[in-house]
Amino acid sequence: MSNSVAPKIESANKEYASTFEKITIGPAPTHHFLVLTCMDARLDVFRMLGLQIGEAHVIRNGGGRVPDALRSIICSQQLLETREIIIVHHTDCGFTHFNEEELRSKIRKDMNHVADHLAFMPFTDVKQSVLDDIHLLKNEPLVMNVPITGYVYHTEVGKLERIQQ
Ligand SMILES: [Zn+2]
Repeated sequence: MSNSVAPKIESANKEYASTFEKITIGPAPTHHFLVLTCMDARLDVFRMLGLQIGEAHVIRNGGGRVPDALRSIICSQQLLETREIIIVHHTDCGFTHFNEEELRSKIRKDMNHVADHLAFMPFTDVKQSVLDDIHLLKNEPLVMNVPITGYVYHTEVGKLERIQQ
C-alpha cells in the first residue's frame, strides 16, 4: 500500500525523540490504577481523565470491554500492583452501530473466512454495557477484589457520567 502512514509517524517520532526527557520511573503505574476504555480515535484518554505519563495503565479495545482485556488486567494487578479499576465506555461508540450476525456475514462474504468463533460484542445500551462489564469483573475469580468505578463518556461534550451500580 503506497499511502501508508508509516513515513508520517516516523518523521513525527524523530521530532519527539529529539526533545525526549528520560523517564525515571519503572513500569508500575505510580497511581496504582488501570483504566479500561474504547479504542475510539476521538477519546483523548490522558487529557479527559487528567492523567500524566506513568500514572495509570490504559487498556483499550473495541468498546472498552472486559473479556478481551482480561489478560492485561490480570497482569496489571499481579505484576504491576494496580489496585483500582476505572471503566469508561462512551456515547456514539462504533460498537453500538453494528450487529454481530451482519458482521459475521460480511466477513464470510468479503473475506471468504468464518469468524463465528469470535465474539465481537456489540451493544445497544452504553450504561448497561458498563454495568455488565463491572459484573463480569466482580465475578471473575482471577481479578482481585478492588474498587471498580464505571463511567459513560459523552463523546459530543467531553463529559464523564458516573454509572451507579
Ligand atoms: Zn467506542
